[in-house]
Amino acid sequence: MNDRTHMQQAKRMPAPPEGLAGRLKETAKGLWSLVVGLGVTGRVFTQKQDTVHYPRVTVPETALEGYRGHIELVAKDEDPHTARCIMCMRCVKVCPSGCITIKSKKIEHVEHKEQDPDPNTHHNGGLQPLPKQSVPRPGKGKRELTKFQLDYSLCSLCGLCVQTCPASSLRHSKHVYWAGFERKDFTLDLLDRMHRQAEAKEES
Ligand code: SF4
Ligand code: SF4
Repeated sequence: MNDRTHMQQAKRMPAPPEGLAGRLKETAKGLWSLVVGLGVTGRVFTQKQDTVHYPRVTVPETALEGYRGHIELVAKDEDPHTARCIMCMRCVKVCPSGCITIKSKKIEHVEHKEQDPDPNTHHNGGLQPLPKQSVPRPGKGKRELTKFQLDYSLCSLCGLCVQTCPASSLRHSKHVYWAGFERKDFTLDLLDRMHRQAEAKEES
């Protein structure tokens, strides 16, 4: 700080009070400001706290209404171990950060179809109509989800994947407490998470 700035600042400062009365007035003013400050501190100290002493205390899920954590898979209502996902890949395509990886495999599936019986086959001497027959046929396009991975270190929580999913198979989690030291700590296996959630529900 140069001399000129120093002098300009000194000019702006109020002059010290003159005489005993002036000094007493200034001291009383200072003490009153201290009392007001302590009053504010005391009031806040006795109020209900909005913060918690993590990790000794954690926030209950009911207090996390509207919180947008990382995405997670939503399971079918009738089968909590199977995701609603229909493997359309829309979430992968819409994600601006490329943080979703999905893998699936074709599964052996046999469908049974009802069909009219062979007209050359006689039933009860041809007096009664022949019943329909159940014929096994290989199922078409049945796939199973084998991997649903999220790289949270890239995710911007934009929510586009959740909005785009036609099967309502994605939602934002309420997973607040997540810390790590390396980037790979933020890679999440969402299928595994969904299975663990289902098991926890079954045990409770
Ligand atoms: S919230 Fe956005 S950035 Fe994160 S996975 Fe979904 S689309 Fe990608
Ligand atoms: S958009 Fe939905 S249904 Fe399609 S792959 Fe993603 S999670 Fe599955």
